[in-house]
Amino acid sequence: TNQPRITFKDGNTIPQIGLGVWQTPNDVAAPAVRAALAAGYRHVDTAAIYENEEGVGEGIRTSGVDRREIFLTTKLWNDDQGFDSTLAAFDRSLKRLGTDYVDLYLIHWPSAHRDRYADTWKAFVRLKEEGRARSIGVSNFYPGHIERVIAETGVAPVINQIELHPDFQQKDTRKFHEGLGIVTESWSPLGQGKLLSNPVIASVAAKHNRTPAQVIIRWHIENGLVVIPKSVTPSRIGENFQVFDFSLDSDDLTAIGKLDNAGARIGPDPKMAAF
Ligand code: NAD
Repeated sequence: TNQPRITFKDGNTIPQIGLGVWQTPNDVAAPAVRAALAAGYRHVDTAAIYENEEGVGEGIRTSGVDRREIFLTTKLWNDDQGFDSTLAAFDRSLKRLGTDYVDLYLIHWPSAHRDRYADTWKAFVRLKEEGRARSIGVSNFYPGHIERVIAETGVAPVINQIELHPDFQQKDTRKFHEGLGIVTESWSPLGQGKLLSNPVIASVAAKHNRTPAQVIIRWHIENGLVVIPKSVTPSRIGENFQVFDFSLDSDDLTAIGKLDNAGARIGPDPKMAAF
């Protein structure tokens, strides 16, 4: 389907919108993935820790859409960090997903207290060389973590998936990524739903005769971000993808831009997270 894609440093491309499936059990994930693929999505974001890789794989296989058209991301959980344990955990993820490759494999958190993310990254480089992970990236990494994996391997992640929404815009981190050609991907892009009732978002939505969710997703798109809104409700899954037939004007972007730091992180600060 005709939708914007972003090109990684490694030459591969990622559809700018994907379906997020956190907190979605297997039997709910499968129909949600089918609904998304029917609505035009070609990108799904899961993780080993979500315990729904089987459901995601089933949704893909029963969708009628060719696996090769679908961009599939999964993530390595913190307990499995380390060189050999990463390779083993990757095999288990592929098995659960029922596929022989993923489009993107992410280190879920630096989990810096373990001090294993650099060795983990070396295993990721191996998986990329083998072609079983077509692209490799990270999640929740601070610039210092990224600098270290580059220093140890000479290979930069193509993407960093971080918490990012209109009231927590991560401008400094995005600038750092840009300097290295790393794509920024927004998790909890709707602020886990809390931004849907924000009055600034509501007024922009009313002006364009769109929903708050559509305005926020469009804001991520226009900022060059990859965005993975979560819903398991087919009507909302469809709504969240109908964002390619309108655009925000400079007044809208200014108004939403001013929301930065009006809110804060919802999730853990990766610097503090000891899990
Ligand atoms: P989100 O910001 O996508 O918000 C999801 C919630 O918004 C849903 O539960 C639903 O209640 C509501 N919603 C969605 N569409 C709606 C609509 N059209 N109308 C009304 N309400 C709507 O939150 P999220 O799930 O935290 O983040 C999205 C995805 O990001 C996750 O599913 C996961 O894939 C990823 N994620 C990654 C990390 C990480 O550490 N890498 C952490 C959190 C989330």
